[in-house]
Amino acid sequence: MKIAYDAGHGINTPGKRSPYGEREWSFNNKVVLAFEKELKKYKDVELLRTDSKTGKSDIALKTRTDKANRFGSDIYISFHHNALNGKWGTHTGVETYHHKGSIKGKELAELIHKVVVNTYDLTDRKIKTSNLHITRETSMPSILIEGGFMDSTIDIVKLRDDKVLDNVGREVAKAIAKHFKLELKEAKKSNTAKEVDKVVCFNKGDKGASIKKLQQDLMKLGYSLGKFGADGTFGDATEKAVKSFQKDNKITVDGLAGAVTLSTIQSKLNKQNVTGFAVQVGYFEKKQNAQDEVDRLSKLGIKSIIKTVK
Ligand SMILES: [Zn+2]
Repeated sequence: MKIAYDAGHGINTPGKRSPYGEREWSFNNKVVLAFEKELKKYKDVELLRTDSKTGKSDIALKTRTDKANRFGSDIYISFHHNALNGKWGTHTGVETYHHKGSIKGKELAELIHKVVVNTYDLTDRKIKTSNLHITRETSMPSILIEGGFMDSTIDIVKLRDDKVLDNVGREVAKAIAKHFKLELKEAKKSNTAKEVDKVVCFNKGDKGASIKKLQQDLMKLGYSLGKFGADGTFGDATEKAVKSFQKDNKITVDGLAGAVTLSTIQSKLNKQNVTGFAVQVGYFEKKQNAQDEVDRLSKLGIKSIIKTVK
């Protein structure tokens, strides 16, 4: 899916600021960044930001709509914040525009507007039709969001809260993802590692391959599993064997095969596989020379053997 969008004006575009001089672009851009961040989590999404990422230049509206049209975007969203007259007042609310007569634009507005109203948690000033360049000249469904008034003593509280602006961007992205059935990219592999690290504890009644392995290990270490042997069911005999193993290894005797018991079993098995250590003292091509070495060592009281090397 292709998605095009912009953050309204340039940072220095005249007007376009709160009575205290806060720039509309700064508010718009925070929403846009959160919107992008969320959409990047989904598969097969191509994003096109048509305005300047730094806000330093105010890209002409025609350039923006031309870019989006060439890109073949599926939807277009222009993120703005409103102003009434540049003087503080109690006018308030969120409105969303679509081009007059555009059914697809209206559908997109209906999808997004309710999310925006809820997330800003401001008055619903409803969906409106417009004859704005952005919504008129784009060949795909497009909307322009006016997310609250910069010159409203009510709305400015929300606009100054980065968490609100972040949520708006994210929730709009999520609504798009849901509506267009976008799929999340694969979760990171670290989740798998966590699964492996999960603490396991086997006890009476457990069944399966892990129990069978536990029983086989206990038997290798000399603990009897009675007449059932390694049958894959943690019953009385297994519990008894676990308890004996715990007692012998000074682990809390509870008959539960938890992390400590299982790792102790493993370390005992590792040791069991080692029968001893051999010392190699030399390599000879002639048997007689090997024999001479054995004799020499024998005189020193060291017992050695000759092994044939192939
Ligand atoms: Zn604006």
